[in-house]
Amino acid sequence: MNIEEVQSTAKKQRIATHTHIRGLGLEPSGRAIDMAAGFVGQKEAREAAGLVVDMIKQKKMAGRALLLAGPPGTGKTALALGVSQELGTKVPFCPMVGSEVYSSEVKKTEVLMENFRRAIGLRIKENKEVYEGEVTELSPEETESLTGGYGKSIGGVIIGLKTIKGTKQLRLEASIYDALIKEKVAVGDVIYIEANSGAVKRVGRSDAFATEFDLEAEEYVPLPKGEVSKKKEIVQDVTLHDLDAANARPQGGQDILSLMGQMMKPRKTEITDKLRQEINKVVNGFIDKGTAELVPGVLFIDEVHMLDMECFSYLNRALESSLSPIVIFATNRGICNVRGTDMNSPHGIPVDLLDRLVIIRTQTYGPAEMIQILAIRAQVEELHIDEESLAELGEIGQRTSLRHAVQLLSPASIVAKLNGREEICKADLEEVCTLYLDAKSSAKLLQDQQEKVIFYAGCDKGFPFR
Ligand code: ATP
Repeated sequence: MNIEEVQSTAKKQRIATHTHIRGLGLEPSGRAIDMAAGFVGQKEAREAAGLVVDMIKQKKMAGRALLLAGPPGTGKTALALGVSQELGTKVPFCPMVGSEVYSSEVKKTEVLMENFRRAIGLRIKENKEVYEGEVTELSPEETESLTGGYGKSIGGVIIGLKTIKGTKQLRLEASIYDALIKEKVAVGDVIYIEANSGAVKRVGRSDAFATEFDLEAEEYVPLPKGEVSKKKEIVQDVTLHDLDAANARPQGGQDILSLMGQMMKPRKTEITDKLRQEINKVVNGFIDKGTAELVPGVLFIDEVHMLDMECFSYLNRALESSLSPIVIFATNRGICNVRGTDMNSPHGIPVDLLDRLVIIRTQTYGPAEMIQILAIRAQVEELHIDEESLAELGEIGQRTSLRHAVQLLSPASIVAKLNGREEICKADLEEVCTLYLDAKSSAKLLQDQQEKVIFYAGCDKGFPFR
């Protein structure tokens, strides 16, 4: 396994609607700027979130979490993302919805644990060396001493690699020779070898390794003895979950992540508690050695009222852990039932957890703010809309919701294009408004036409239609 091959498992989809958010848009004094970093209005909440960022930086949020409470579409997700961006560009942001924990295959606490680990970053620093060698013809003595008997003949000539800058020759092992033969190298060709943490990783014809030679991935290849012509420091940001996932399907290799993987039994396909503990042990070892640094990120749990008692007790414990990310909850519910109990509680959160929370309220937007947010979204999505239509869309947003108004932008631009225009105009908006219902109109329609809608008493048993 190459370090480059550890794929990020970050969930991108839920962040796409917030690509315009680049921070909290605060002055150094902590005051919110009217419109900055993609944020518009919601000033009190942004300033309160800014103070939380300060507390996190001063390590005063340990064992506590943040709750964003407010009506739908008031920027709770955007605020949580803003907090993570204020903490640093490489800080992981893991968004999830409370209802994600319910699955027939995976335990609720397992889903929470996975997301906790998606929100904890690890910055790994590696030193890679690049050797530059020229293919030379070897004498019989050199063949024995330099290739240890592995030296193979290409066109009747036994070859070896000589470092260009020094006098030492590189001692190469079988799989490198095989790769050289496969690539039909000739005497005089220049070859580059990249080694990392004591092992050859890549062989190629350029030091950018644009044309890489195919080394047997599973084969152990020791570091060649030669002069290093270039040293590069490679920094890679991964999350603990990336490591869990990569080591659940271990491959060969000798780099840091593979070494972590080799501590585990090979060919594992499931992330188990034991695997996570092993990863923690190895990660702690690397942190102690100074090769890696922990980067706690943000776990954002939207619709927290969807969690049940089992999840809340897990969270109470997990927040105490030294390996905990910053947890931000969000809800648009008032006093409601705590799932799995017959108790009611503010936001559907049990009081013992509520006691640990710093609560920030978000407010609904006025027309001017809504229009500004819509203008930003149109710009991000590279859509053109005239002033009058933007004002109209703002009014639609006031009547329905900000999110509904944002969602009308793309279909309206398609309608505009179908009508031969680049810019969205009022007529396009009117047309899409007749095509798509917002949540409120849909609910009203259902109420008005109750007798026409099929309602079957067995619908909760999985038979909605007859
Ligand atoms: P819900 O309760 O339904 O989950 P929410 O409070 O999390 O909603 P968001 O999803 O953050 O609301 O906001 C809806 C859209 O409006 C997103 O695209 C978001 O980025 C944008 N948005 C919300 N508030 C602001 C703001 N103050 N400035 C700029 N964009 C905003």
